[in-house]
Amino acid sequence: MSRVARVVVDLSLDREFDYLVPSALSDALQVGSRVEVPFGRRTVSGYVVSFVEASSFPNLKPIKAMIGKKPLVEENILNLARWIADYYVAPVELAVRTVLPSAVRQTSARFKEVNIVSLTEQASDLEQVAALRRKAAVQGKVIDALAAGPVPLPELTAKLGAVSAAVRALERKGFVTVGSRVLRRRADAGHEVLPTQPLELMPEQASALELIRQSVDTGDPKVVLLFGVTGSGKTEVYLQAIDHVLKKGQGCIVLVPEISLTPQTVDRFRSRFGDTVAVLHSELSSGERHDEWHRVHEGSARIAIGPRSAVFAPMKNLGLIVVDEEHEHSYKQEEAPRYNARDVAVMRGHREGCAVVLGSATPSLESHSNAQRGKYALARMAHRVDHRQMPGMRIVDMRQEMEKERRLNVLSSDLYEAIRARLDRTEQTILFLNRRGFATSLVCPSCGAVARCENCSVSMTYHKPTHRLLCHICGAGQPVPDCCPNPDCRDPAFKYSGIGTQRVEDVLHKTFPKARIERMDSDTMTKKDSYRKVLNAFRGGQIDILLGTQMIAKGLDFPSVTLVGVIAADLSLHMPDFRAGERTFQLLTQVAGRAGRGDLVGEVIVQTFTPFHPAIQAARTLDYDGFLDQELEYRRELGYPPYGHLVCITLRGAQEELVKLTGTTFAKRLQEKLDPSVRLGGPTPAPLAKAHGEFRYQLILRAPQTKQITAPLKDVLRDFKWPDAVAWSVDVDASSLM
Ligand code: ADP
Ligand code: ZN
Repeated sequence: MSRVARVVVDLSLDREFDYLVPSALSDALQVGSRVEVPFGRRTVSGYVVSFVEASSFPNLKPIKAMIGKKPLVEENILNLARWIADYYVAPVELAVRTVLPSAVRQTSARFKEVNIVSLTEQASDLEQVAALRRKAAVQGKVIDALAAGPVPLPELTAKLGAVSAAVRALERKGFVTVGSRVLRRRADAGHEVLPTQPLELMPEQASALELIRQSVDTGDPKVVLLFGVTGSGKTEVYLQAIDHVLKKGQGCIVLVPEISLTPQTVDRFRSRFGDTVAVLHSELSSGERHDEWHRVHEGSARIAIGPRSAVFAPMKNLGLIVVDEEHEHSYKQEEAPRYNARDVAVMRGHREGCAVVLGSATPSLESHSNAQRGKYALARMAHRVDHRQMPGMRIVDMRQEMEKERRLNVLSSDLYEAIRARLDRTEQTILFLNRRGFATSLVCPSCGAVARCENCSVSMTYHKPTHRLLCHICGAGQPVPDCCPNPDCRDPAFKYSGIGTQRVEDVLHKTFPKARIERMDSDTMTKKDSYRKVLNAFRGGQIDILLGTQMIAKGLDFPSVTLVGVIAADLSLHMPDFRAGERTFQLLTQVAGRAGRGDLVGEVIVQTFTPFHPAIQAARTLDYDGFLDQELEYRRELGYPPYGHLVCITLRGAQEELVKLTGTTFAKRLQEKLDPSVRLGGPTPAPLAKAHGEFRYQLILRAPQTKQITAPLKDVLRDFKWPDAVAWSVDVDASSLM
């Protein structure tokens, strides 16, 4: 019986096709092998994602050929993909596809080769060259241009005009040789960084490094949780740990949250380690991504840095994985397979016997509890480098402010005064508001009607530059209506309610007309280099006030920022999610950490309507442990993480009744197979009850062990008959319950 291989073809069709494995290839072919297959009348390339015993399709065609001897996915990465499929209840094909970036998967992505022209021995014979010059002036010029060393042909052409004929002639006469060389495409070409030397460590840094080195040097390393306040010098510890690993001949992976993969972060690594750093970033062009990935695969880069998918970097002889800001929710992929890169990193480290460092100023409750139970080793750094003070945090009660002023201002008088003072002293300010747009809703003052998205259960956000309403869920847009949409009302007056970054920018310009203000959110950061440009201008002192969304909350290190203002701390607090408190605490701590990183003391002002909320108070007093005690008590009662694992099943469809009914049937079926210790809730409407025109219902499961949920779940999924009009998804260890 011949085997059947499932192949993903390079046509971005996003599905797999079955092919017979010819006996000649049967031994050589592996999962991950690249192949040529017949597709319609054409031959296309693709790669094998799995083998199956039989196919439901008749008349399968055989695979034509195998390309290359070695598959691109190595065994270890493939096994990691299998683990992901199993743990996160996702199709294995999808998991395998996830571990190989599309820029590498597609055979259309290739190395770029250029012709390099260099002089031969003969070209140093002055007499021969002089004779040549008299007859062929252009050829003489080419020789001059090559005097300093080999030059790629395209560059010669750019400099001298059409010279390929001249080059060919020179080659024939023996003056030059033309060889081909792989040209590395890189996004940061032309951007040079100055090398840095290791700093002399502070005592807390030194003991943290020691702990990590021990972990690296043992055969069975423990995960190290590096719990260090903002500005305690975690990055310097990573750098020196990496140095240790490189000296042992091993490689490293550094994961950073997408949003903090800034040029500044990359530069810190490049300036210490130079070209051995490969950056795996989705912002790169596909050619750049292809080349960077292969540099890791071939071993010419020994440090791979990138967002969550970099955990799959094909690094061989891996000695260390660093997960910076391990508490970050962007490590969780919000589409199948819904993996958490931090947890995958711990798993990969365990399987490959390599050390893992999880760093944070506000560790996730899960990691912290692992450290408490002795599963992870803990390195704590409670002080800033050079004993710089932590910035003081002032809470402004916006309820009182509103009473005093008889209206709600964007800037409280405290925040106004503080910014004013910074402008006078030419110090810098960062203002944070996690909401883009101008106003979060358009409300009719007579009848209270709100402009809502037709497809989603949210109000439309007003964007001033385009004078349009936009849905931040589905992206639908429309012009601002002339009058209230309610047919019984039709009042032409509209009130903007709820503030976004555009509105704050407006207010700032009016209040401080001379100040240089820059806004940084996904509406202004539309070009590839806008981020670097604004940050460079801020660093160079050409900007006084930098205003932005979470883009500016993470990782930025600007010594002359002495004031950080949070416009509305309540936004994340009132999210209908059990992690709302944790998130608010983390966000405030991170944002506050941007202040006072230089010689000047920093100050943080937080505007809120709920000044006594424990998360806000804990952030003010830097009381992680106090926050933890409260939060853990509530989590324990409800069996939420870290006291249990949580799985969220979402059902969606255009017919609400059908979605709900399917949810009820599914829940019943599942309940029959569950152990009594597993709690099952729902179906209930999701907090985001409707999106993209589909109603959404959730089932929430909680249990001490994931397997207690996923094993019976897989059983039920195997033969549950889903109506065509209902889509479903499973989210294991869900990070957000929207
Ligand atoms: P964190 O990542 O913990 O917020 P950073 O690694 O960004 O902290 O360090 C904060 C600042 O302190 C950086 O400007 C860094 O260059 C500097 N720094 C770190 N370690 C030392 C040290 N041992 N001596 C002097 N400066 C240091
Ligand atoms: Zn919408």
